[in-house]
Amino acid sequence: MDTEKNATEAYIGKEARYGARNYAPVHVVVDHARDCLVWDVEGREYIDMMSAYSAVSHGHLHPRIVAAAHRQLEKVAVTSRAYFGTTLGPFLEKLAQVTGFERALPMNTGAEAVETAIKCARRWGNRVKGIPDGMQQILVARGNFHGRTTTIVGFSSEAGYRDGFGPFCGGFQHFDFGDMESLKAAATEHTCAVLVEPIQGEAGVLLPPPGFFQELRAWCTDRQVLWIDDEVQSGLGRTGKWFAFEHEGVRPDALVLGKALGGGLLPVSAFCADEGVIGVFSPNSHGSTFGGNALAAAVALEGLKVLEEEQLVERSAERGAYLLGRLREVQDEVRPLIREVRGRGLWIGMDIEPACATARDLVERLAARGVLSKETHETVIRFAPPLTISYALVDRAVEIVREVMQEKHRESGLQGKPAAVVDA
Ligand SMILES: *Cc1c(COP(=O)(O)O)cnc(C)c1O
Repeated sequence: MDTEKNATEAYIGKEARYGARNYAPVHVVVDHARDCLVWDVEGREYIDMMSAYSAVSHGHLHPRIVAAAHRQLEKVAVTSRAYFGTTLGPFLEKLAQVTGFERALPMNTGAEAVETAIKCARRWGNRVKGIPDGMQQILVARGNFHGRTTTIVGFSSEAGYRDGFGPFCGGFQHFDFGDMESLKAAATEHTCAVLVEPIQGEAGVLLPPPGFFQELRAWCTDRQVLWIDDEVQSGLGRTGKWFAFEHEGVRPDALVLGKALGGGLLPVSAFCADEGVIGVFSPNSHGSTFGGNALAAAVALEGLKVLEEEQLVERSAERGAYLLGRLREVQDEVRPLIREVRGRGLWIGMDIEPACATARDLVERLAARGVLSKETHETVIRFAPPLTISYALVDRAVEIVREVMQEKHRESGLQGKPAAVVDA
């Protein structure tokens, strides 16, 4: 026990000693994981209610995806795009089938796929819409999260993501998420695209008002502006549909995918669009050494098949509705500690009353009792388990959430006080 305890300290110590300090991880040292469960170096078991921000939507080490990786590792892993291969074509074909878009450009990380979207939108704005090159404008939402490159953080509205990293790239205008009037006010004749998440994840799992994307679709069509839908986190079943845009019965002009696209094993991302948009790319205009490599394509293809054949999208809708309902029961029991429980599918944000607790404190208490979650900002806890989660495991996780919330509720001494007292 003592040596294991020392192991925890030693691993944390080494990361802290030799790593750049750009993260503040929860103090759990993961040793191994399978499906929805994770074990630390001391042998403690955790329910993964985080799944690496949706990168592990299939569950950890899904046997079919691991087998596909092993098969490909007996053949070839990386050749660069200098040559054709046997796995990229089938992967792109499957991606076209599930997204409904004619073509895709494979990259590795989400940020790279977003960069690809930005380049495509600008070139399309110039070549197709006739905006003078260098004048193209892209509208982005306040509170956005699209990755960490200098271009992308340059249009973040989060001070911590930008501070000290200038000068930034021009050509981006902000609007208020979910507000068409503010979007219209920000647009100019040089606007070539609107880049937006369907649900703002990093901002706290924020849903736009119903009808926003229908209005956006109509406005974009009318003004000859591309709607680029960043579904790096929301896509591939997370919200209970294959893609979150389907909830509003409308279709964007282009789709950005990442995270779960890698089947929980590898970084795989893609920019997807129809010929009239993605056709602006010509040889030498864009690329990536590792993008679409043979191993990544084999893994991603199997990941898409697993989502489909194991009906993980339907599971996300059913279990997500159940989890949301159960967490709202907890909310009722500990008023006013939890301000709101919101989400779609297996993607839920729990908004904590700041007068009672910080989200981080609760995330640490949950981890100590065996539930892995993650805070965003000071007040929101995110729950996003693998889409494979069983009802029994959802129940186990909810019981632990209940215990932790009731404990905090008793400590904070605000039980039964009206909300006005808390606000004061
Ligand atoms: C995570 C995320 C990204 C960036 O993906 P990385 O793989 O971390 O570069 C982009 N957009 C959204 C919506 C994301 O959630």
